[in-house]
Amino acid sequence: MHRKVVIIGSGPAGHTAAIYLARGEVHPTMYEGMLANGIAAGGQLTTTTEVENFPGFPEAIGGTELTERFRQQSERFGTEIITETVSKLDLNARPFKFWLEGAEDQEPETADTIILATGASAKRLHVKGEEQYWQAGISACAVCDGAVPIFRNKPLAVVGGGDSAAEEALFLTKYGSKVYVLVRRDKLRASPIMAKRLTNHPKVEIVWNTSVVEAQGDGRLLNNIVIKNNQTGATSDLAVNGLFYAIGHIPATKIVEGQVELDADGYVHTIDGTPRTSIRGFFAAGDVQDRVFRQAITSAGSGCQAALLAMRYLEELEAEQEGN
Ligand code: FAD
Ligand code: NDP
Repeated sequence: MHRKVVIIGSGPAGHTAAIYLARGEVHPTMYEGMLANGIAAGGQLTTTTEVENFPGFPEAIGGTELTERFRQQSERFGTEIITETVSKLDLNARPFKFWLEGAEDQEPETADTIILATGASAKRLHVKGEEQYWQAGISACAVCDGAVPIFRNKPLAVVGGGDSAAEEALFLTKYGSKVYVLVRRDKLRASPIMAKRLTNHPKVEIVWNTSVVEAQGDGRLLNNIVIKNNQTGATSDLAVNGLFYAIGHIPATKIVEGQVELDADGYVHTIDGTPRTSIRGFFAAGDVQDRVFRQAITSAGSGCQAALLAMRYLEELEAEQEGN
């Protein structure tokens, strides 16, 4: 099946693009993903509680509720939303070709223009014991997993010093007896307001210059981690029943590797601060191309830009075809 414009991904970038394209009457199709990169359709905001910095919600709004509202707005103007993951693309072909997960051996779908808005996913440490205790004490999402009984009134640890680490640690204070925040250097990366909340919380202890070396347990559940002081090299035990990773994200660009220009960390390289990429007619919006800001509102903003550029590209394409 051929489509004029396809959006891959369903976070704030993808939905903002969809709203603009649908209102522009170019009938966009969104592939929202089926647990693509382990994240529910709707994207990273589905893994958080309150969103306090998205304009229009002075009392804050739950992350999942906000993504549901994005989806309703996209649908209201006629976006076709398909709950499938795009697993393969051919960006050399014109129109572009793409395949859905599980249907890679079938005839490809085609599109005149594509907006990649696949976002990013959580990084892991890959320390000894991680595989054994993954989801048995170790998690990359406190909001998703923090409330389970194994963490109730138990000492917990969060790795990382950014806004995610601050948010996850504060969330975990509702359940754990104590929350250690393990920061690899002597400084937080978190925004001042989040850093202040973290440092002021009575249940939180920040452990500076510290890395996790090993996860240990009773064979079934995590109950200890070995940590290392990065200045002295000394290792010690820290008895915790939960270890939560909040060490940043990996852009979801595997499906375009080798086809479009990426930067050293795998983010799509965009041109002149716009969602334009090294391939004409192929745009990238949101966290998949943003290593600096990575916010819902900046993702939404670039989704808007991508939609406007995609519409302009469709007009150019039409004019070129008429001229032929
Ligand atoms: P994402 O939100 O990453 O969504 C992309 C989605 O597309 C994926 O999750 C998946 O469902 C889908 N997808 C991926 N690959 C495919 C594929 N191949 N085919 C089909 N579908 C696919 N920002 C704020 O502004 N305020 C906050 O309070 C805030 N809190 C946060 C809390 C946490 C815990 C985290 C992790 C992030 C938070 N952020 C916050 C950052 C914000 O969530 C992101 O910047 C934003 O969601 C990025 O939007 P996006 O559209 O680029 O993609
Ligand atoms: P960041 O990249 O901002 O922070 C990652 C943190 O993890 C840094 O402190 C980093 O240390 C540390 N780190 C990275 N790798 C390792 C490792 N291997 N071992 C130990 N520590 C490591 O990511 P976040 O996920 O925190 O935030 C992403 C974006 O989402 C940001 O723009 C943030 O502002 C936004 N966000 C906003 C929220 C809000 O506004 N409420 C909530 C959550 C996220 P170092 O500093 O040394 O590099």
